[in-house]
Amino acid sequence: ARTGGGDAEAGQDAVETARRHLVQPWPMAGSVGAEARALIGEGDGIYITDGNGKRLIDGPAGMWCINVGHRREELAKVMYDQAMQLSYNTPWYTMNAPSAELARRIADHAPGDLSHVFYTTGGSSAVETALRFMQFYNNVRGRPEKKLILSRGGAYHGSTYLAASLNGRPRDRDWMDGADDLVVKLSSPDPFRRPKGMDVAAFADMLVAEFRDRIAEIGAERIGAFVGEPVQASGGVILPPDGYLKRIRAICRDNDILFISDEVVTAFGRLGHVFASGEVFGIDPDMITFAKGVTSGYFPLGGVVISERLLEELRRSNHPDAMFAHGLTYTSHPVGCAVALKNLDILEDEVLAHARAVAPYFQARLKTLEELPLVGEVRGLGLMACVECVADRESKNPLQLDRAVGVRIDAHCHELGLLVRPLINMCVMSPPLTISREQIDDMVAILREGISRTMEDLRREGLWQG
Ligand code: PLP
Repeated sequence: ARTGGGDAEAGQDAVETARRHLVQPWPMAGSVGAEARALIGEGDGIYITDGNGKRLIDGPAGMWCINVGHRREELAKVMYDQAMQLSYNTPWYTMNAPSAELARRIADHAPGDLSHVFYTTGGSSAVETALRFMQFYNNVRGRPEKKLILSRGGAYHGSTYLAASLNGRPRDRDWMDGADDLVVKLSSPDPFRRPKGMDVAAFADMLVAEFRDRIAEIGAERIGAFVGEPVQASGGVILPPDGYLKRIRAICRDNDILFISDEVVTAFGRLGHVFASGEVFGIDPDMITFAKGVTSGYFPLGGVVISERLLEELRRSNHPDAMFAHGLTYTSHPVGCAVALKNLDILEDEVLAHARAVAPYFQARLKTLEELPLVGEVRGLGLMACVECVADRESKNPLQLDRAVGVRIDAHCHELGLLVRPLINMCVMSPPLTISREQIDDMVAILREGISRTMEDLRREGLWQG
């Protein structure tokens, strides 16, 4: 039976079955394995349809991934054709043509000397791969002590053990273990929450000084890598101060610390380019991790682009037989790589230019929401943005607000025809990159109404007087 798209009864069955048999991601202990999440039955362009047949703008583009939009027939067809030709081959002893061709095209877009790709199944496994590669690299170089990883508050790098150990968002680690002995946490580069009275340039200096000081304290000989998202995505679309990333990159180079740019969200068009590290931020990392938009979410695929210099060093080392004992069954999956190639065609031929053209309009329209007293800041870049709600603008304190303010806004917007990604007191907007100006107008009008209705609710319930 088709579920969703108007077949309300079948949709209700699916929700009930899920409640009985499905453990959904990021559940609360009190409702784990017993949750009724909104059913989505269909997708088309920038829209999705819920179990009641209601059409919604897909505000988060799935999870920042449906970059070229839903229901792209050419992507569906290429998956079918590739599966009929070769559905899988072992990457342990053999290879396939789509993975090689995709690696060549990814390397063409990558900054600096990033020349080779190792494929994974998604973003967490990409970060995990980059970190294990750093460990291997330093073992082969005879530096087994050089393994600590620098990460930052506000970071999100995934849900596998080591990648998750880097996470720095509030609440992510409250109930979860991590490899804390391997990770050093630094401040979030969030200008909105910089110390009171400090300007942004001084804040950048403070972050850079902290970075230097921690390296001096610990010793560069013990630090293997820095991992950072160029724009912290799930932390609330946090744009670092101008020049900060270049300065951190230089310090890493000076201290022989690998700079790993986590572009799982920012790559493949979200910021108007295939990779943002070079084209938007002017940096050349040692490795870039990617996932999501590489297939526009049509197939689970991720990877790491690796610097030629690192590979060359390994080849020339005194340990030609040392083995990087790391690989996933689905590394270099032919169907994933074939769909990624077609997706890259679409991005290059039409979507990247469109994304760059509409981005200023998208940001400017969303910025008008700062007129609402509940909104502390609207910030963003390219086609990613965050509407951050605050209890009052002076203290910028989000915690005095009912924590579910994002969820409340999402509920109103759902009624009005927009799916929002609520993050505590923030709403993150990252629609498919194909969104038109008219559709941006619709999205912002709904969000404005959703926030206005939430303000009325909060006033009525005595939770907020703004
Ligand atoms: N890195 C970043 C920056 C992410 O935003 C995410 C997921 O949102 C990940 C890594 C993890 O990717 P995945 O969920 O595909 O494992």
